[in-house]
Amino acid sequence: MQIQVQNLHKSFGELNVLRGIDLEVPKGNVVAIIGPSGSGKTTFLRCLNALEMPNQGLFEFSDGFSLDFSKYPKKNEILKLRRKSGMVFQSYNLFPHKTALENVMEGPVIVQKLNKEEVRARAVSLLEKVGLGEKMDLYPHQLSGGQQQRVGIARALAIEPELMLFDEPTSALDPELVGEVLSVMKELAREGQTMVVVTHELKFAEDVADHVMFIDGGVVVEQGPPKEILKAPKEARTKQFLDRVL
Ligand code: ADP
Repeated sequence: MQIQVQNLHKSFGELNVLRGIDLEVPKGNVVAIIGPSGSGKTTFLRCLNALEMPNQGLFEFSDGFSLDFSKYPKKNEILKLRRKSGMVFQSYNLFPHKTALENVMEGPVIVQKLNKEEVRARAVSLLEKVGLGEKMDLYPHQLSGGQQQRVGIARALAIEPELMLFDEPTSALDPELVGEVLSVMKELAREGQTMVVVTHELKFAEDVADHVMFIDGGVVVEQGPPKEILKAPKEARTKQFLDRVL
């Protein structure tokens, strides 16, 4: 198991957004999280690398590292957790004044303090991998949304994360640009990258995910293999959601 999360809770003031979520992601698996708007999907993903601080929840990793959020983790434990995952955001979140290459180099050079020349070589190969070998000296505003998001993926990969977290990575894109981002994600999955993906792309979930979780109201209503959850859901709430979006 690459990561196991037990009983994750998160509230914003009085609002209990996540109410006891469990997650298990075997190494090399892709877990897709689906659910209505406002159900807590993004909050859950952000809790996985402590961009939002959970109120409660036990995290355990395959290397023995664990974190118990009911016991106020220390800052160095939080940093260790963050280094385990790479986040790809809905709105790309690239640095506008840095080139594609500089964006990809930022994490390993500034945060991990790695050797700049080695990082550069790796960043170049990551940009080639996402099909942007020719564009690495361009700034975000000179790139299409799909290209910017592929830079976002290369940047998240640059720290060599155990886990890739994708927060609706195609939802801000024009429809004709969605495919190029999904195909990069498919390739990563094929290579055995462990991934958790919040997505509205049910076809992607069906084709690529090993496991689908349907979240509503901050709880997991139903989970299982994509064929089961997307084609033959047992719960009325899952059926209703799928009827609405399909
Ligand atoms: P989803 O990704 O499923 O659309 P979110 O995780 O974005 O859902 O949001 C779940 C709920 O948490 C919503 O009611 C949202 O308004 C609330 N929420 C999310 N982030 C914050 C925040 N930083 N402060 C207060 N409420 C928040």
